[in-house]
Amino acid sequence: MNKEILQNIKVLYVEDENDVREFTGKTIKAIVKEIIVAKDGKEGLEKFEQNQDIDLIVTDINMPKMGGLEMCAEIKQKSPEIPIVITSAHNDPNFLKKAIDVGVSAYAMKPIDLYQLIESMIKAVEPIFLRRQLEEVNLSLEEKVEEGIQKIKSILDAQDNIVFVSSSNIITNVNKKFLEFFKTNSLEEFLKQHSCVSKLFKKERGFFSLETLEGKDITWIEYLQNLNEVDRVVKIANNKDIDRVFTVNIDDYEHNGEHFVISLTDITELKEKSNLLEYQASHDLLTGLFNRQKFHEIFGKEIRRDKRYENDLSLILFDIDFFKNFNDEFGHNIGDEVLKFIANIVTKSVREHDTVVRWGGEEFLVLLPETNIQGAIKVAEKIRLAIEDFKSDEIPKSITASFGVTTLHEGDNEEEFIKKADMALYKAKKEGRNRVISYTA
Ligand code: GH3
Ligand code: MG
Ligand code: MG
Repeated sequence: MNKEILQNIKVLYVEDENDVREFTGKTIKAIVKEIIVAKDGKEGLEKFEQNQDIDLIVTDINMPKMGGLEMCAEIKQKSPEIPIVITSAHNDPNFLKKAIDVGVSAYAMKPIDLYQLIESMIKAVEPIFLRRQLEEVNLSLEEKVEEGIQKIKSILDAQDNIVFVSSSNIITNVNKKFLEFFKTNSLEEFLKQHSCVSKLFKKERGFFSLETLEGKDITWIEYLQNLNEVDRVVKIANNKDIDRVFTVNIDDYEHNGEHFVISLTDITELKEKSNLLEYQASHDLLTGLFNRQKFHEIFGKEIRRDKRYENDLSLILFDIDFFKNFNDEFGHNIGDEVLKFIANIVTKSVREHDTVVRWGGEEFLVLLPETNIQGAIKVAEKIRLAIEDFKSDEIPKSITASFGVTTLHEGDNEEEFIKKADMALYKAKKEGRNRVISYTA
């Protein structure tokens, strides 16, 4: 790890918890040139403005007065290049996504593991440090070419990221990390197998690959330069054929569109965590079904599609019968098992493009595109029977549920659509439960 680069930087550290601030602050202080400490986002912003030469921000997320991401968004407007490391216990499931949007460079989990924090700080400042050094070297390069080249080599090799230097689209220099990652002994050997690194970017949704450029008269470097950091993400297999995810940082260090330093920062773990948090934000954790929030999103898309193609869009809302009694008699844990088996049954009873949602405690919803009311009633009836017939050693008593079904009428919004299904469900309960009723005006 290239810890030396931290010795030359000035850090703004923002944390509201006194103990954490004191302890972590001391550690950071020992490894950097200077540290400025603030106790919330507002103070952090003020101190950033008073100290124009800050190289790195390390900040907590949830803080009084102004949160870390809000602070960073403001700072980034004025200083878009400033690297940011966030520290958080991630109790807000959406925060990582926001963090990436704000352009956070790296991330250290709380409780803070100092090793991880230092590593994240290095990752974050490296591209900027690298640019500064190269600019310096470039100034003296003409006079002392050979010495300059050697110096560039040693600078590149000291980087934690995978780095290569490219003149237009031709790689001229790579660092040690590059050779290790691609399991090759030299740049020449690499170039014999692959004409360009960009060919190794895997084609996958959410990642940049060369396919994106088809029909466009633009190089991949030019294209990526115009993207936000969130979109400059690629996937490459390493020397063990394991996929790793990187953000690509492109530095046009002579500002003439010819010579670039390209560094790939490994964000695989960050991305995995972000995916996990995205999953948690859109799914019900007990049953694994979508939650309400995700439903709103899907419904929005379906309703636009429905309008465009004039397809039928139907809805089933159902609720377990006398579930309170069941819980009282057998306990909440067995009740939870029932919810899981129902989730399972429903998922198996519908088509792939139907959406199953845990709507509330013991209420479920199924959205059925391209399905008219008769079709929806059939599906509901199938689910009703499957629940009624279900037997398991873990579940001591048979379960039934009541169903309300409706189809989207012209002018219905989401609220009215669901209300109609709810009215039908209410009727099913009133008429004796364990039945399917469709909405009638
Ligand atoms: P009805 O037939 O009228 O729907 O009667 P009910 O008892 O099912 O309806 P009520 O709305 O009175 O009670 C719902 C019950 O669902 C109460 C609550 O204990 C149970 N429930 C809600 N969420 C969960 C959960 O996550 N796990 C378990 N085990 N039970 C839950
Ligand atoms: Mg119920
Ligand atoms: Mg209920």
